[in-house]
Amino acid sequence: MRVLFIFLDGIGLGEANQGINPFANARMPNLNALLEGRSLFKESAPFHGEHATLLAIDPNLGVDGLPQSATGQAVLMTGINIPAELGYHYGPKPNPEVAGYLKNGTLFSRIVEAGKKAALLNAYPPRYFDGIDSGKRLYSSIPMAVTNAGLHLFTHEDFFAGRALSADFTGNGWRQMLGFPDAPARSAPEAGRKLFSLAMEYDFSLFEYWASDYAGHKQDMQSAVELMETFDGVLGGVLEMTLAPGAHLPRAQVPGSAGVNDEDRMANDLLVVVTSDHGNMEDLSTRKHTDAMVPALVIGDKSVRERFTREMKDLTHVAPAIWQTVIRN
Ligand SMILES: [Zn+2]
Repeated sequence: MRVLFIFLDGIGLGEANQGINPFANARMPNLNALLEGRSLFKESAPFHGEHATLLAIDPNLGVDGLPQSATGQAVLMTGINIPAELGYHYGPKPNPEVAGYLKNGTLFSRIVEAGKKAALLNAYPPRYFDGIDSGKRLYSSIPMAVTNAGLHLFTHEDFFAGRALSADFTGNGWRQMLGFPDAPARSAPEAGRKLFSLAMEYDFSLFEYWASDYAGHKQDMQSAVELMETFDGVLGGVLEMTLAPGAHLPRAQVPGSAGVNDEDRMANDLLVVVTSDHGNMEDLSTRKHTDAMVPALVIGDKSVRERFTREMKDLTHVAPAIWQTVIRN
């Protein structure tokens, strides 16, 4: 069974409060259809639906202080309760102690060692590699796990050749900020369909979306709402390709799906997992991370989902569930 892991940085399950929570303001018809009328709120989990399961999982892991990105992502990569072993949450980039956990035994290294194909689907611009090479920029936990597993990070050439996606899904950032006016432009549903087709080339693939954590730190409601509406469009694109024939969402709910026939939908052999490292964006009353539970949204075959989510209580349970799904099936 293939797994596509969509990692959303800094997304917790918060209150249905329009004053502070972008999820209470964003129009997310695809997510709502998937959750049969619910949204990504605390009160929505646990949910076991026809196409999706939503759990609230704990990123605090019994350790004082607010959860941080380096340790949270390293836990998602290894299944080890690193904050408990070290006695602290740490971020945003790994310190040497956290980095030590990412050398081997990660989601990427285990899947590669099992002879399976894995990739991080983000494309990185030249300035990112320049920063890494010059020592001015440190890898965050996920690219560190990827490169330590002997995999390479995708470049602008991969992005132009359609082998990877831009971090913002649409390519706007590349055209407007990164100096690539000819970069591929995609609507959100197109990016979702692309994400699906790339995911089908691997046994395990991950897409990292960090803009959500950034919007949370900036306490910017409008940009957070726009980001989540874009994400919903991407989700729509993924869903129209993922859900089995006869098991799809109402057509009207999936923007841009009119041209896709049931016959074109792929066999149901992809599990999509959406989760986060810690809360942040769901409460814009604070510029800090939160101690909220984070969503584990799992989309795909019902029996696979049931097995996948059975033991899932906190961040340590995500990596083992993924590698068992990818390696055993
Ligand atoms: Zn953060």
